[in-house]
Amino acid sequence: MKKHNFSAGPSVLPKEVIEDASKAVINLNNNNLSLLEISHRSKDFISIMDEACSLAIELTGLKNNGYKAIFLQGGASLQFLMVAYNFLKAKAGYINTGTWSEKAIKEAKLFGEVIEIASSKDQNFNYIPKEIKIVDKYDYIHLTTNNTIFGTQFHNFPDTNSSLIADMSSDIFSRVIDYSKFDLFYAGAQKNTGPAGTTLVIVKESLLSEINKNIPSMLSYKVHIDKESMFNTPPVFPIYTAMLNLRWIKKNGGIQNIENKNREKANLIYNEIDNNSKFIGFVEKDDRSFMNVTFNLIDSEEKDIFDKICEENNVVGINGHRSVGGYRASIYNAMTLESVEVLVDCMKKFEKL
Ligand SMILES: *Cc1c(COP(=O)(O)O)cnc(C)c1O
Repeated sequence: MKKHNFSAGPSVLPKEVIEDASKAVINLNNNNLSLLEISHRSKDFISIMDEACSLAIELTGLKNNGYKAIFLQGGASLQFLMVAYNFLKAKAGYINTGTWSEKAIKEAKLFGEVIEIASSKDQNFNYIPKEIKIVDKYDYIHLTTNNTIFGTQFHNFPDTNSSLIADMSSDIFSRVIDYSKFDLFYAGAQKNTGPAGTTLVIVKESLLSEINKNIPSMLSYKVHIDKESMFNTPPVFPIYTAMLNLRWIKKNGGIQNIENKNREKANLIYNEIDNNSKFIGFVEKDDRSFMNVTFNLIDSEEKDIFDKICEENNVVGINGHRSVGGYRASIYNAMTLESVEVLVDCMKKFEKL
């Protein structure tokens, strides 16, 4: 039976991507060699890496805009400190919209002064701070575009004269935004890019000229860019699978088309939350995420009943993050409308009981 997988990450990938990735594990390009046993410096792998990087740039609309894409390891969590190590000289401004922002702030503090220029902590991160005035000059401003745990998302970005850096782990490639507003953005692959094990970083090359300190090679953006993501052995399987997933996005009409589908899925489930007497949304309506839909039961005593309905209908992975509770349906790019309809039907059945 098909499972409807609403996991927050690692999470659903297109079926054809998983099938093609598994074929390459057995036999890549009819070479009678596995993707897993060829040199990362072989022609075959170099062309995979090139395609993955150029698709990332193309899909974000940054072709001929002076940006470079690299695939690193260490997850988004390593980027929390790499960003600060490379770019924090005096002080940086951070917008705190939840757990991941807080983790980024904690790491950055090891490298310099961190000013929390806005925060939604006062209401347990159920909204996105608005009309953020950025007057001082900062080395950079850091924000998290989509808050995977709380289910909020920036729909507009603050204006700033400082460099803008973003953690886009859970909504990269999900919607049309002006990616050129950002000087650097990164994403752990396992939400919307591919399997766990690699992190995509896209950086404006002009930003690199601002780095004037000695940085250990593995933590240096310059080194990884100079070596085209091959300073050390890259995670070949996650990068190959991410490349297949980016091809899939392109084949499906690019980000605009993906965004339309994501909106349709999100509207369907938010409508149900708003109209169903048994549920309540967790966040302010204007700030709702199109990727992670968080909601609670009005009567938490009924949890076992709703869980049972979900289980019977093969809906999996909808428990909220342990720090929030309730439910979270993650509806990343590869989530089908049909699966969202199954979840909505479960909610309707539950209401009618
Ligand atoms: C999942 C997630 C992370 C953590 O990513 P790792 O790859 O596990 O380090 C960071 N930021 C956001 C927004 C996330 O959703």
